[in-house]
Amino acid sequence: MSQLWTWTPPSNNTVSLVAATDGGGLVVNQQSGTGNGSPQSVIRFDPSGNPTRDSWTSTAAASASALTNISYIAADAFSATQSGSTTTSLFSSGSPIDLPYSVFPAPAPDNASKQMINIQVFRLDPTQPNVQPVTVDMTERVNSAINFWQKQGILLNWNKTLGSNGIQISPLCFRAPCLHSDNIDNLTNVQNDAVIVYAQAPYFFRQFSNPKVIYYSFINYVAGTDTSAATINIPNPAQSKTFIGPSNVVVAAHSVDDVLPHETGHVFNLNHVRSAGNLMCGALGSNWFADLWPALTCSSW
Ligand SMILES: [Zn+2]
Repeated sequence: MSQLWTWTPPSNNTVSLVAATDGGGLVVNQQSGTGNGSPQSVIRFDPSGNPTRDSWTSTAAASASALTNISYIAADAFSATQSGSTTTSLFSSGSPIDLPYSVFPAPAPDNASKQMINIQVFRLDPTQPNVQPVTVDMTERVNSAINFWQKQGILLNWNKTLGSNGIQISPLCFRAPCLHSDNIDNLTNVQNDAVIVYAQAPYFFRQFSNPKVIYYSFINYVAGTDTSAATINIPNPAQSKTFIGPSNVVVAAHSVDDVLPHETGHVFNLNHVRSAGNLMCGALGSNWFADLWPALTCSSW
């Protein structure tokens, strides 16, 4: 084993390894000073040991004075605490992502409803490789959610001037680097795997970034099937690969069943019940036997 290159960090700095790259490169986290509250940034070394400091990290650090408690999720997505803040933010390419803990309804203007929430509808770019054709009527699926919730007094306001009759196109990868080059990621395939969902959630939030809009995004598969839908959960920055609750982003597979009313219930923070007649029919996850029936009769997450 031979030494490839050396680098001496500034004094009073601590350096920890983030990743090793092909051919002898490294990614390190440099912390100036000691202690949990010290500012951190990311340096990438090429195979010859030439350092490049991530501009997005320093940009974010400059706008926020300092970032602390940086924790890497995947690719350039990380969580950190901004100076003067007591809460943790998600960052992607150096920009903080507003965490949509809830959507805030506005008074509805139609007299029939009490509240109004804007919705937007997206599909994957059908001209791109590996994108499955959507085989259901997207307008009908979304209208089912609109009709259900209007009866509950909530008007889902679909802006039909966006895209083609309200259906907009989302790219496979919003901004490089993408998480994977195959179709496991890039909004095309959400596997029933908390690790993958956790890793790609920041990309959905970057692509669909308005916390006051409910997004319906038609993708290839959800949980490995073409008929399911899911509400993307928000990663818990304090505990890796766990979630803190539903977001405002619903993904629907290309032949999705009539489940958008149900998924919209998740956006509103409603949990599953085991009754097949209830909108929120679904597995609770606490008892496999009791979950058998809802697992057979409920078709979405
Ligand atoms: Zn569900």
